[in-house]
Amino acid sequence: MNPEAEFREIIGQLKDLMVANREMGLDPPALSASALDYLHDKGEVSHLSPLDDLRRSVEGCKRCKLWNSRTRLVFGEGAPHSRLVFVGEGPGREEDLAGRPFVGEAGKLLTRIIEKGMGLKREEVYICNVVKCRPPNNRDPERDEIETCIPFLKQQIKIIRPEVICTLGRIAGQQLLGRDFKITRERGVWHSFMDIPVMPTFHPAYILRNPSRERELKGQVWKDVQKIMVRLGLEVNRNG
Ligand code: SF4
Repeated sequence: MNPEAEFREIIGQLKDLMVANREMGLDPPALSASALDYLHDKGEVSHLSPLDDLRRSVEGCKRCKLWNSRTRLVFGEGAPHSRLVFVGEGPGREEDLAGRPFVGEAGKLLTRIIEKGMGLKREEVYICNVVKCRPPNNRDPERDEIETCIPFLKQQIKIIRPEVICTLGRIAGQQLLGRDFKITRERGVWHSFMDIPVMPTFHPAYILRNPSRERELKGQVWKDVQKIMVRLGLEVNRNG
């Protein structure tokens, strides 16, 4: 490689690194945001979408100890400009194996809520978690793990800019709405995160773990989902 080509390649790698750092909010970039946007627009930095850029920068992450026990990192999936983002706490066993969010039994229930209840296609919404790697034995993610991983979620939300976020369960609610958040007391009520309306509801896995209360819990989730539908201007005349 001649010296000029070598120099250009190094500059290109440096630009990629600066953009990745800015996307994750980890370090102040050496260039201004507008300069980086200019490079993006000119195709100097990457031909990928911002969400793909972010996914690429998260792949192989070893920033917290959860990398040790994961099979596959579960970044999230769905429409890159979805009006609605669902946020759970972290991948379970099925998700860890598939590298996709909400694909186990709880995921099937969430898919039914989205498709049969809301009348949307699963691909029309965006689904992700607070932590991207499975905690061992499905334990709750620990504080240091959440604090290390949550910049990725914030960046996803910043890129997607949904009209509504729906948190699923206690952990996701607490991370977005504050440690005092109580799912039984505050689900079904509008909150806000990054200036985006948030509707917290029960995690589908919680419904599945409580078969004796299934009807009651599904009814409560359906009420919460209807509030989201009204906010998004979706027709609410289904049975849930
Ligand atoms: S949980 Fe998040 S911070 Fe920890 S290794 Fe996985 S992607 Fe990285």
